[in-house]
Amino acid sequence: MTSQEVRLQFLNFFKEKNHKIVPSAPMVMKDDPTLMFTNAGMNQFKEFFLGNSIPKSKRVTDTQKCLRVSGKHNDLEEVGKDTYHHTMFEMLGNWSFGDYFKKEAIQWAWELLTEVYKIDKDSLYVSVFEGSDDDNLELDQEAYDLWKAIVPEDRIIMGNKKDNFWEMGDQGPCGPCSEIHVDLRSKEEKAKVPGASLVNQDDPLVVEIWNLVFIQYNRKANGSLEDLPEKHIDTGMGFERLCMVLQGVKSNYDTDVFTPLIREIETITGHKYGKKEETNIAIRVVADHIRAVAFAIADGQLPSNTGAGYVIRRILRRAIRYGFTFLDTKQPFIYRLVNVLSERMGKAFPELPKNHQLIENVIKEEENSFLSTLEQGLVLLDSVIASSKGKTIDGEKAFELYDTFGFPIDLTSLILQEKGYQLDVEGFEKALKAQKDRSRAASEVSKDDWTVLQQDAEQEFVGYDVLESNVKLVKYRKVSSKKEGDQYQLVFNLTPFYAEGGGQVGDKGYLEAPNGDVVYIVDTKKENNEIVHFAEDLPKDVSGTFKAVVDKEQRFHTACNHTATHLLHQALREILGTHVEQKGSAVHSKYLRFDFSHFSKMTPAELRDVENFVNARIAGQLPFEENRNMPIKDAMEQGAMALFGEKYGDTVRTVRFGQSIELCGGTHVKNTAEIWHFKIVSEGAVAAGIRRIEAITSEAAKEFFFKNNQMLFEIKDVLNTSQDPVKAVVSLQEENASLRKQVEQLLKDKAKGLKNDLIAELKDINGIQFLGKKVDLDAGGIKDLAFEMGGQVTNLFLLLASENDGKAILSCYISKDLASNKGLNAGNIVRELGKHIQGGGGGQPFFATAGGKNPSGIPAALANAEELVRATR
Ligand code: ATP
Ligand code: MG
Repeated sequence: MTSQEVRLQFLNFFKEKNHKIVPSAPMVMKDDPTLMFTNAGMNQFKEFFLGNSIPKSKRVTDTQKCLRVSGKHNDLEEVGKDTYHHTMFEMLGNWSFGDYFKKEAIQWAWELLTEVYKIDKDSLYVSVFEGSDDDNLELDQEAYDLWKAIVPEDRIIMGNKKDNFWEMGDQGPCGPCSEIHVDLRSKEEKAKVPGASLVNQDDPLVVEIWNLVFIQYNRKANGSLEDLPEKHIDTGMGFERLCMVLQGVKSNYDTDVFTPLIREIETITGHKYGKKEETNIAIRVVADHIRAVAFAIADGQLPSNTGAGYVIRRILRRAIRYGFTFLDTKQPFIYRLVNVLSERMGKAFPELPKNHQLIENVIKEEENSFLSTLEQGLVLLDSVIASSKGKTIDGEKAFELYDTFGFPIDLTSLILQEKGYQLDVEGFEKALKAQKDRSRAASEVSKDDWTVLQQDAEQEFVGYDVLESNVKLVKYRKVSSKKEGDQYQLVFNLTPFYAEGGGQVGDKGYLEAPNGDVVYIVDTKKENNEIVHFAEDLPKDVSGTFKAVVDKEQRFHTACNHTATHLLHQALREILGTHVEQKGSAVHSKYLRFDFSHFSKMTPAELRDVENFVNARIAGQLPFEENRNMPIKDAMEQGAMALFGEKYGDTVRTVRFGQSIELCGGTHVKNTAEIWHFKIVSEGAVAAGIRRIEAITSEAAKEFFFKNNQMLFEIKDVLNTSQDPVKAVVSLQEENASLRKQVEQLLKDKAKGLKNDLIAELKDINGIQFLGKKVDLDAGGIKDLAFEMGGQVTNLFLLLASENDGKAILSCYISKDLASNKGLNAGNIVRELGKHIQGGGGGQPFFATAGGKNPSGIPAALANAEELVRATR
């Protein structure tokens, strides 16, 4: 069975059991401050489990792109070394939101595996939560009894809290689970060691494939559990592992999900898979990591220096480094796998072919830059080795390489080993821990539990229509962090405050109590589909009705920038072409920033065209036309711009200004005329194939023009002319150039006059034409002069001195013949004479200079030179 069929059968099985098939959520989290990446199928449904929103269907099924490389679930270090953990993998799941529970979940899972997929019952084991004293929980008897009805009791294994109690993070919905494991070993091996003893023991052939989670608790901040109002089912089956079982192979990498990638890696690198363990690991690492990185980029997450982008960069670097060391790849090659990947997975995930070119470009550039880092690192490491005394290399030094240059520590220790050195691992670990502690302390946030004042399932956002409304507090909690100090998070029954999202900043404003007390709202963000207001204080009386007031100025300027962003997007596609796609956007009150795919720097003419295009639509006074409830199909048919990596529902909000129509939840002006003017202030590159425009509108644009105008007046004032200032500056530049020429000519004439004077002053001492003299020239001028005199006079010995800014220079010129006949060396001579001016120098036998800090020693040096010449025979 091909992997495509495996996926389809799963979804169809649950479709027949009245589940709605929904798309995978993006792998990169956009509005969940507690998670960077989707790490399980349930993440996108968290709000339903918490009761914050009501699902449209109570039963759904899907395949979810997951990434387990950070936080509570981090498999990165295992990946490649074993054959069944990936960074990015697909999790097949079926869900019940307050509908069916353990009985159906268990029965259907068994039916699918044994009757549809026809997996041998004798190779399956199941586990049940044994209970936990910590949490005061008992054995999951209900699950045990359900399993007992289907499988022999010796195939039911008791699991502890670590394996059989599922939690996404430190807080949130959770519950006991039942896992299903498969034993893929040969008959002989099974006869020797019973499979039950290998479950959850990290045996690569006895692996967990499916986890059925019975969500019934919420983990609170203090660690305690509370019952959820409704019970839910959350299951997750590893797609790649299932394919391994159904395709009769013993490693995920031998399924058709990975073999095309592995064949391609073999072709590119010339290394065969299956020959040598080191090479095998490296090939698996590359085959796995390309998927994670490509999907992340398709979701809009580019490699970068911070946050989620940094995690992606590290994954890619891990692959580059394995290739570099074990596959001998010194040139970029990983980007060449995008073709195969996109061909294989493009059907199920159209975002891959769509972003094909971008993904290739970004990966190639990252590869280039990290390969050169690796080379620099090797040089640095050599110098560390050269300067170290014993055979052990300082851990601090290795940490520096790792921290500042991104040089992987395992590579450092490998190279050291090869050269017969050792790494001070303890020292390295210590330095690493110290750094982690520092950054943890800086970013630590502690959150109290919510204090719930009233139950209110769905809060309403009224801020499209009004900026002020009467609200009631539904719940609040205190959060503390080093960065922000103590803050309160407030949730209202309804709110006019826009929560950060779609690139637009959250609203600010205040809350006024009936007695006139005011609490400032400093930011607004979404969490689990709830609008959370960040306040500096808690209102004294939390029970009353408050007037919630949005800061109008900020909202207005932000709206101008948001509408201008749509017009800019339209302009770019119109002027540069439809390959332009939005890759990032930040809408603030003071400016807007827009990242988009395009392959070359924009020309000044293109920039002007874009500005003109947008300003023409501002002048055109286009009205704001919104539809808050349009079926997504209709919106797409009308040509609305949607973004990859965004999660959209069945119905969407569309925002139209003239021909520009986008799916958008942001706030906008009522008419483009309100924007007044649009001005681009910068255009540049952010990554390979991605450009960034920063622009301003309304007040900020006014300010910009005002300041520039002011500067022009000042320039005119300084120029003190009624002429056009550009002409005035050009003529000043011309005048300056011609004056510089005159000065140069004058200096030449002066040197010529000086030369003739000096020749007249030469003394004949025993046939040597000698002159020792202080002159008023710089070092370059003296050199020119000396060489010119040397061309005219034979047997010349010159010692010319000069003084400049309190420093002395001695230059000694000796005709080449003279120097060799008499054994004279200008270099040695200036070094000797340099003592008089407290300095030193050197050069060649026929010309040398010395510099010193004591100009008052010049006469002595000159006299000394003459003595020297007199003594020469
Ligand atoms: P394991 O103990 O094997 O790491 P897990 O307990 O972390 O698995 P769950 O969190 O229960 O797994 O996830 C549900 C299913 O997802 C697992 O049964 C497995 O099939 C699959 N899975 C989990 N982690 C990975 C991974 N890193 N790569 C591929 N599949 C995975
Ligand atoms: Mg795991």
